Amino acid sequence: MDSHHPDIPTLLKDAGLRVTPQREAILTFLMEYDGHATVDEIYKAIHPTFPSMSMSTVYNTVKHFAQVGLVKEITFGDNASRFDINVKPHHHLVCRKCGALIDFYMDKLPSFSLPPEANGFAIEDYHVEVKGICPSCQRASAV
Ligand SMILES: [Zn+2]
Ligand SMILES: [Zn+2]
Repeated sequence: MDSHHPDIPTLLKDAGLRVTPQREAILTFLMEYDGHATVDEIYKAIHPTFPSMSMSTVYNTVKHFAQVGLVKEITFGDNASRFDINVKPHHHLVCRKCGALIDFYMDKLPSFSLPPEANGFAIEDYHVEVKGICPSCQRASAV
């Protein structure tokens, strides 16, 4: 896979969505944003270009993206949903201080951690959330 981001209109069309400038802008922002954006962050980024686009329209648009598999919606506890452009199965390290989310991958679910109740359960999806303090927050609090 090359690192350039794919053609946005093609991505939208392939996902069965009509191409609109707003959708293109949101998807482009998510592609270029390094991480996991909240609706608030997307709204702030899009607002200067599309001042008439409301927060709820932004929300509905990314929700729609998630339904068609263009992004993955993730929620951590009570926090606002974040939209992850990385739709490959992956997991997150979560910093309790700054909220940084770091992606990591596991080839398969470690079976040793599954309880006996999991026998016969057809697992479709799982998400591992590892909480802690990231290195930069540790450095900051050491001063
Ligand atoms: Zn941190
Ligand atoms: Zn992620």
